[in-house]
Amino acid sequence: MSTTESWSPSSWRSKSIAQDVEYPDLKHLSKVLAKIETLPPLVTPSEIERLRYQLSLVQRNEAFLLHAGDCAESFDACTHESISAKIGLILSFSLILIWGARLPVVRIGRIAGQYAKPRSSKTEKIGDREVLSFRGDNVNGLDPNDRTPDPDRLLSAYFHSTTTLNHVRSLLTSGFASLHHPSDWSLNHVRSPSLRKEFEHIVDGLSDALDFSRTIGVESGPSFELGGGRGTVGEVDFYTSHEGLMLEYEQALTRAFPLSSAAHPKAPAAPNAAPIQRLKAFYNTSAHFLWIGDRTRQLTGAHVEYFRGIRNPIGVKVGPSMGKEELVRLLDIVNPLKEAGRVTLITRYGAGKIEDHLAGHISTVQQSGHPVIWICDPMHGNTLTSASGLKTRNFGTIISELTSCLKIHAACNSRLGGVSLEFTGELNEEGFSVTECLGGSMELSEEQLGLRYQSFCDPRLNFEQSLDVAFLISNYFKK
Ligand code: PEP
Ligand code: MN
Repeated sequence: MSTTESWSPSSWRSKSIAQDVEYPDLKHLSKVLAKIETLPPLVTPSEIERLRYQLSLVQRNEAFLLHAGDCAESFDACTHESISAKIGLILSFSLILIWGARLPVVRIGRIAGQYAKPRSSKTEKIGDREVLSFRGDNVNGLDPNDRTPDPDRLLSAYFHSTTTLNHVRSLLTSGFASLHHPSDWSLNHVRSPSLRKEFEHIVDGLSDALDFSRTIGVESGPSFELGGGRGTVGEVDFYTSHEGLMLEYEQALTRAFPLSSAAHPKAPAAPNAAPIQRLKAFYNTSAHFLWIGDRTRQLTGAHVEYFRGIRNPIGVKVGPSMGKEELVRLLDIVNPLKEAGRVTLITRYGAGKIEDHLAGHISTVQQSGHPVIWICDPMHGNTLTSASGLKTRNFGTIISELTSCLKIHAACNSRLGGVSLEFTGELNEEGFSVTECLGGSMELSEEQLGLRYQSFCDPRLNFEQSLDVAFLISNYFKK
């Protein structure tokens, strides 16, 4: 593929579409998409530009990236309780990182649009029936009798995303992120006394530091504040993301805006940007950040074609099957001008495979001169099926991939810029966290998995297990 080939929001349609969804009624689909095209953007170009700028700081080792949330959101979980639990965990996690690493944290949630899922097989066996696989709430239903793709679900996804984002914005502008109310982030239920104590110690320390700054007349020191200033979604910076899988939907929300008015004034210019006169740019206004999944990153495929034309910062999943040359060719396509902050590589090899691949990928990218942010997804290469048939992940294996990743980056004169996690702060009605991953400081056993297994997709770390990971990273970067 040539990067000079003309691009339009629909040019992906002439390429082969991995993970394509076949709708039985194409007229119905067109009608829904025409409606979505008229609906307002969910996020703005200036927010997207701000994220690009902040990611360029991550790339320069001046900030750390936390990308986290559900494997898949569901329409039913669009509630105050669920949304505030997710945001609370992201805030708690980032606070621990800020405290340890003394670096601002860029927070990107897998939220307000993370509905579609790629599948390894088109169909699945349920009982003695072979039915279409569940592809996420924006495509079909989890109920085996509701598996026909329904275009109305795309419209419903738009409205659920809007409602979620609206609630996130209102939580963050009404003091939810304030350090004076960290118990609002649902820490109350953390049963491990040592974990609670460690977290409370950090919060007390930060509150003291902020009080001190206020007393001496400095509003807030940059390494202590949650947001790095008045943020994008309310008073702290918070960004949304999802896998850019359903290209019809992504196209319908791709809008042209003049670039000059949107680009962040402090954004570093691309080294060879001069000859390009970009009068307008295409922004995907459904989320600040989108990523290409490991199953849809074919160089000549529809997803790469779509992604190369949007101005948003993007992620690319990098697994064991990614060739070294292939990775550089992909970077050439999606970031021909080698702009900082544009591409985040999300590595997800598996604890047993990372040693075979990461160092080679790092050195090839270094030689290519492509500026990238490397973040570790220690979840997707480490999924297994428990004896009882539940999909799970072992906390120890997750930590093993993460620590290998930190070590390999250090040995290759590179730096891990962030993490990508599937976690949830959600509690059940009795106030207990989910039981989907094994181990952690709560020592969750195989027998306990079934107790509160709520994910209908991949298993997520619960609140305590997530804080365990946060402390591990925070201690590693402690200054
Ligand atoms: C995911 O992030 O939920 C996912 C499906 O990841 P991957 O594309 O890396 O398998
Ligand atoms: Mn997943």
